[in-house]
Amino acid sequence: MRAVIALGSNLGRRLENLQGALDELFDAPGVTFVAVSPVYETDPVGGPEQGPYLNAVVIAETVLDPRTLLDRVQSIEIAFGRERKERWGPRTLDLDLIMVGTHISDDPELTLPHPRAHERAFVLVPWVRADPAAVLPGHGPVADLLAGLDQSGVRLRTDLVLEPPV
Ligand code: ATP
Ligand code: CA
Ligand code: CA
Repeated sequence: MRAVIALGSNLGRRLENLQGALDELFDAPGVTFVAVSPVYETDPVGGPEQGPYLNAVVIAETVLDPRTLLDRVQSIEIAFGRERKERWGPRTLDLDLIMVGTHISDDPELTLPHPRAHERAFVLVPWVRADPAAVLPGHGPVADLLAGLDQSGVRLRTDLVLEPPV
């Protein structure tokens, strides 16, 4: 199954947090690396006043069921010092499951595809760079979704690069 995971950080050593998460994600069986996007710096959307994010998207193949994949990404968030305070507040690391194969769920603990991905340029811009043919189940081609979105808050950082996991 194809899995698409969005990475974000706006606290601490942001690039190192993203790189560490990428390495951890593939450091156990069941998830294999396909591609990672460039790194973007993005203006925060919603939530309190906070600093800019670094965002990227990684594409994987997985044999894990979505719940198990969520458990893995949540333990990585905790390992990187994620604290859950106010909703949409600043964080060292945020890992969102954007889609997992054809799974569809409206469970608040794990909603698939991610219920806000289709309206978020900070997810869709990196995703389409990692996979130009990307399609968001229920919404259509990512390139088409982006045509209707303001992308001014999403800036490519060519000086910051995520290395594929070893
Ligand atoms: P947003 O979901 O709008 O991006 P957020 O990432 O700040 O907000 P969190 O505090 O990281 O939200 O997550 C809140 C809860 O969302 C998690 O405990 C998790 O159970 C749930 N959740 C539901 N669907 C997903 C998903 N597709 N990926 C990750 N978490 C999800
Ligand atoms: Ca998020
Ligand atoms: Ca999250």
